[in-house]
Amino acid sequence: MPKHRKLIMINRFSLSAMLLISTITTNCSKDSANSATTTATGSITIENVSDLATADMQTWSTTAASKMSSQTSNILAVSWNVGAQVKEGGFNRPFNTHAVTITSEQIETLMTKISSWLDTSCADDSTKTEELANFRNYITNGADASAHLVMCGVYRIVLMAFPSTMSADDRKSVVIHEFYHAFQQDLADEACGAKRDSSTNGKWLVEGATEYFTFIELYGATAGVSKLLEKALEAYNSDNDTAITGSSITHRAGAGIRYMIEKGWITESSILDGSFFHSCITESDYTDTNANIVTTKANWYKIEATNGVYGFTAAALGG
Ligand SMILES: [Zn+2]
Repeated sequence: MPKHRKLIMINRFSLSAMLLISTITTNCSKDSANSATTTATGSITIENVSDLATADMQTWSTTAASKMSSQTSNILAVSWNVGAQVKEGGFNRPFNTHAVTITSEQIETLMTKISSWLDTSCADDSTKTEELANFRNYITNGADASAHLVMCGVYRIVLMAFPSTMSADDRKSVVIHEFYHAFQQDLADEACGAKRDSSTNGKWLVEGATEYFTFIELYGATAGVSKLLEKALEAYNSDNDTAITGSSITHRAGAGIRYMIEKGWITESSILDGSFFHSCITESDYTDTNANIVTTKANWYKIEATNGVYGFTAAALGG
């Protein structure tokens, strides 16, 4: 049965963050995880040659995983350093080209580890060959990768290249953001993916929930919400675009998620424990036929600061 290999990525290093969920058909010999299970069986493997401490990445990812109601993904995270940006683009996925700072020895170490991990996965030979060539290209040629890929079913790969100028908070944000994608179970569901690829709301719901979780992890419940809404307002003010899928989509969409939580239309716990993404409800219950979604898209940017705390305006919440 054909399965989809999917990619979720946000390029965080360009002025306008972009969303891309591409689908590549491939074959997969194992079924994807049964999302009904409540037993956490997933594994996390980190192969890191970046300046970021592996211990920190382990702590952040395992802490995030422990908050999931069901963490079944087997995740390989691969991270390395890159230097200053050389040019935009340059790869078959939307990464920019940066100066190469990784050594050839480090490249071979990473490639050997990735290959070994793929051998334990359900990826077929053609997928392994194709993706190993892709990964070698990214790592060898300075891709500023920040991506989550579904190799097949529960087997997920997170690629993270850290530019030398990236702040500590941004590095942590990248790690938590990409790992949360790896926890989103229905990203590996073929039928769900087909609907989401062509849906109006699925992509922003995926990104918004991911960034919502990330901000709460980074800054805590209260400050996290305020900072996320501040970023969403910044995105809106930058271009006066009311589209929830506009520039810096993660922040806009994160505000949309918060709006629905405050209105009581989704539960915060279903976002923070990942269960919102167990059974493709974004494509069944949160389409434009749901009036609450329409209202959310009309109000997400109505944000104000009161004594330094960002929140929705009374008009927004009344609407
Ligand atoms: Zn994302």
